[in-house]
Amino acid sequence: MKTEMSMTFFGVRGSYPVPGRTTHRYGGNTSSLLFEIGSQAVLFDAGTGILQAGRYLHQRYPEGGRIHLFLSHLHIDHIQGLPFFMPLYNPRLEIVVHCLESSGSNSQQAIEALFLPPYSPITLKGIKAKLTFRPLAMAHAKNFVAIEPGVVVSYVKHDSHPRLGVIIYQLAHDGRRVVYATDVESPDGFEAAICRFIHGADILIHDAQYLDADYINAGNSKKGYGHSTVSMAVRNARQCAIKKLFLFHFNPEYGDQQLEDMLLQARLKFKNTYLAQELKKIKIRR
Ligand SMILES: [Zn+2]
Ligand SMILES: [Zn+2]
Repeated sequence: MKTEMSMTFFGVRGSYPVPGRTTHRYGGNTSSLLFEIGSQAVLFDAGTGILQAGRYLHQRYPEGGRIHLFLSHLHIDHIQGLPFFMPLYNPRLEIVVHCLESSGSNSQQAIEALFLPPYSPITLKGIKAKLTFRPLAMAHAKNFVAIEPGVVVSYVKHDSHPRLGVIIYQLAHDGRRVVYATDVESPDGFEAAICRFIHGADILIHDAQYLDADYINAGNSKKGYGHSTVSMAVRNARQCAIKKLFLFHFNPEYGDQQLEDMLLQARLKFKNTYLAQELKKIKIRR
């Protein structure tokens, strides 16, 4: 029997959280999504969406277990939910954090600072789960972590995001491949090596922070901010022969209606496009 595989978006916004009336359909929390492969939980990013993921996982693992968390980069919208991630306070759980170690910065210390005064009263003693950090090796153009038998997360670095770049991840299980690519501004499309890496994936989750007009706006251009337009996401999906595209990491200034406008624009050029929607669980089949 095939292992069931699903993904649930718990936070879909870029930059800062915007819960409220105009964002209630697609959600106002910052980036976090959960993959469940059988009983294995794999999270990507720890924006404010991870609070809801935490409550869900806390109930799902009453007997203990291991949760993997992969961070795309350490900008605050991708880590700010971590001190409020309930599984960290459950002594029966093990949480493994995977992130890039860049020269001149210590990722573990940067993340631990979230728990220390003056930012927080928790301190590291307050964390009850077994918490381990695994820096991602970047010895080759392509790398991978085998987290459980048959569940592999491979990754590649994308350099356009200021200042330290981001990691693009690909989760593979039983012939199914899902790519998580956020904060990946690419006005000329993904470079050939990245396109080869993700080519033919079943699902591409791609940041689509801006409508094209807002990105090129003469008085207030967003070029160089490190975020994509809807056209960049579509172009990368087409160029890399992706089967299904999910737009993600939306501009917090956009309400639900603008996201639906964005979806219509995208579908003109790539029919199999969807909007990431908070709390929506999507089954991933072959
Ligand atoms: Zn971001
Ligand atoms: Zn960022």
